[in-house]
Amino acid sequence: MARRKKVYEGKAKILYEGPEPGTLVQYFKDDATAFNAEKRDVIEGKGVLNNRLSEFFMTGLNTIGVPTHFIKRINMREQLIRSVEIIPLEVIVRNYAAGSMAKRLGMEEGAALPRPIVEFSYKDDSLGDPLVPEEYIIAFGWATQQDLDDIVALALRVNDFMSGVMYGVGIKLVDFKIEIGRIWDGDFMRLVVADEISPDSCRLWDVKTGQKLDKDVFRRDLGNLTDAYTEVAKRLGVMPTNVTHATKPTLIN
Ligand code: UDP
Repeated sequence: MARRKKVYEGKAKILYEGPEPGTLVQYFKDDATAFNAEKRDVIEGKGVLNNRLSEFFMTGLNTIGVPTHFIKRINMREQLIRSVEIIPLEVIVRNYAAGSMAKRLGMEEGAALPRPIVEFSYKDDSLGDPLVPEEYIIAFGWATQQDLDDIVALALRVNDFMSGVMYGVGIKLVDFKIEIGRIWDGDFMRLVVADEISPDSCRLWDVKTGQKLDKDVFRRDLGNLTDAYTEVAKRLGVMPTNVTHATKPTLIN
């Protein structure tokens, strides 16, 4: 098999050169990291599940007119994506207090927020992705005020879509992180949702029991991560076919 050129390797994914100019292949690894990669493990099957789940969410977003980098899934672990210029921000949307927000403000995890809150962290592992105000983002030229207005509008549309889809299968979308990329067409620039949307980057709680079905299961040692992600995939009807057990041959009359 011809070897492809690796463009970038991150904690959970690898990017390879794509078949056409302007495309990349995004490969989902089984590696899980937390607390700025201080905690790490290999969770068998996580990459396959996240590839499927990210395909599901990105396809849905494309369908309702929220632009994403996603083109198509290629196989169990890989998807074809548009090559974008990543804006160095983690765009976080919160519906309920949890994680770093709950800690910072002394709030109880799960407390409802008065409205969805969008916040930004500067993407830099060596600094631990610090929370940054809009003022910094504009002053340092990471994005313009117009970009930020467009990013907030995109993030809120993603939030409404994701909240609705999850609510439909009995899951509460507590918060999530997305990344935004720029696609250039001559002088014209478009912002699109990039990276991935999966239980690695969302907080998902069962509506009835409050059971966590996201990466907190790994971060906080709450059980088996693959089981949690499989539950999400099953409820959404996107269970990878090879994980289900083979059915017996059926007699044809
Ligand atoms: N998140 C992420 N990558 C990061 C930081 C956060 O995907 O590098 C997600 C996280 O899974 C959660 C949301 O963004 O769904 C908000 O995370 P928070 O700021 O509470 O940070 P954490 O408690 O995860 O450190």
